[in-house]
Amino acid sequence: MAEIIDGKAIATKIRSQLLIRANEFENRYGRKVGLAVIRVGSNPASAVYVRNKIKACNECNIRSLSYELDENVKSEQLVELIHTLNADAQVDGILVQLPLPKHIDERAVLAEIDPKKDADGFHAVNAGKLFLGEKDGTVACTPRGIIELIKSTGVPIRGKHAVVVGRSNIVGKPVAAMLLANDATVTVCHSRTVNLKEITLSADILVLAIGKSKFITADMVKPGAIVIDVGMNRDENGLCGDVDFDGVKEVAGYITPVPGGVGPMTVAMLLCNTVDGAVHE
Ligand code: NDP
Repeated sequence: MAEIIDGKAIATKIRSQLLIRANEFENRYGRKVGLAVIRVGSNPASAVYVRNKIKACNECNIRSLSYELDENVKSEQLVELIHTLNADAQVDGILVQLPLPKHIDERAVLAEIDPKKDADGFHAVNAGKLFLGEKDGTVACTPRGIIELIKSTGVPIRGKHAVVVGRSNIVGKPVAAMLLANDATVTVCHSRTVNLKEITLSADILVLAIGKSKFITADMVKPGAIVIDVGMNRDENGLCGDVDFDGVKEVAGYITPVPGGVGPMTVAMLLCNTVDGAVHE
């Protein structure tokens, strides 16, 4: 029976350490660490995510500046706001909540954020630094949280076979790069992978970022493996992960629940990135 990795508890601990760092920053520089959060349009899920991020900022003594732009805002107006925030010395991190409305080119907008203020770590400069092994970039929040969860088990990553299912720019690819940087032997799988089960069965560390409810079943998991479930899917019973939790927990050594696993770590790492950015100025 697997040990449950309690992402909520680990995130709470990280946030209490961040509060201390944010207080120290304020005492030293006479201002609070600042995070600007931009939301465009009325996507209800985005509204919930932004609300949670702002609440988390408040709890960690980080000043949040919230910008809510109309659904029909022009790309140029959004870019202008980003340039203003880039130049604002009170702002240490900038986050543009995704997805943006269809008429806006997400990549072009994200490219305008000063890489030093890129709290989400999605800027090409920061993604590039991660892949080049340069340590001074900002790492995307979810992958950073995943590595913390794996490390919380106390099992060394070095030399292990890590299998990542999913190759998105925000989860799969960066987490694979981080596992490699931690000396794992890494295999990345995707929708065109042949014999997926054969590969997942050989994983000491299995990271699932697929977006398909309960896709990974007990017969696909090596006994004793560390299983990190990034998936956030809604089915008839509410929120569930990419892993069939009830079955897989009987086989795995460690497993993250959904909710209460990777999700809380993503927000905690956003705050970490913001405080790190402020301190390194
Ligand atoms: P994407 O849709 O961008 O990527 C999904 C990946 O899964 C793709 O690489 C795709 O392959 C692969 N895939 C799809 N079907 C299969 C299959 N049958 N076999 C193997 N691989 C498959 O998703 P994201 O990376 O953005 O998100 C993944 C999940 O994680 C979602 O549920 C999302 O909600 C959740 N998420 C959770 C976060 C959190 O904080 N907890 C943060 C971010 C995401 P291909 O490239 O070939 O299409």
